[in-house]
Amino acid sequence: MGKYNGPLCRLCRAEGTKLFLKGKRCLTDKCSLERRNYPPGQRGARVSFRKSNYKLQLREKQKVKRFYGVGERQFRIFFAKAAKKKGITGENLLQALELRLDNVLYRMNMAFSRAHARQLIRHGHIIVNGKRVSIPSYNLRLNDEVGFCEKARNNESVKAMLSDVKGLLDTPGWLVMNEEKLSGKVNSLPTRDDVSITVEEHLIVELYSK
Ligand code: SF4
Repeated sequence: MGKYNGPLCRLCRAEGTKLFLKGKRCLTDKCSLERRNYPPGQRGARVSFRKSNYKLQLREKQKVKRFYGVGERQFRIFFAKAAKKKGITGENLLQALELRLDNVLYRMNMAFSRAHARQLIRHGHIIVNGKRVSIPSYNLRLNDEVGFCEKARNNESVKAMLSDVKGLLDTPGWLVMNEEKLSGKVNSLPTRDDVSITVEEHLIVELYSK
């Protein structure tokens, strides 16, 4: 299936939860889900279908994919790697998604949303351990340091964006910020409790294990 180009708030309403796809707007009372907390479509407010087990599993998978902005193919790759790793597959999957470069940049308050973080990365503004990385799905490891390249640090629009985005989110404990260097470090690996979306990951594992 191709990339979704429709209204973003519709996705949140379809999943019945905030996916934080629109930056600052998601944190205000202009959020569509605050005003219309029912599924999209003409009959969304009136009809409630009984959900089959398959539908529950599918919705859980779609929710996580949309939250992290990952396509189906890439999500399956993440899942396959998580299943091969030692430990609980669902937790491995969430940890790998948390460690994506675009997610880390967003959680460090260096982008308005994960989509915005992806744009900054693709435009070559981001360095990891001093080297430019332009792949949003880049998998970070323990002690990796993420920041803006020197050119971006001196760019007025980047400076304005950073002051605008500052303090919007609480930075999780597994990331440590260096305000002076405009960078952050993966200080420990994210645990299940660090995942900020409510998800029953075992449903995703069940879906892909059929
Ligand atoms: Fe979702 Fe609300 Fe943000 Fe729209 S404004 S993308 S409904 S969280």
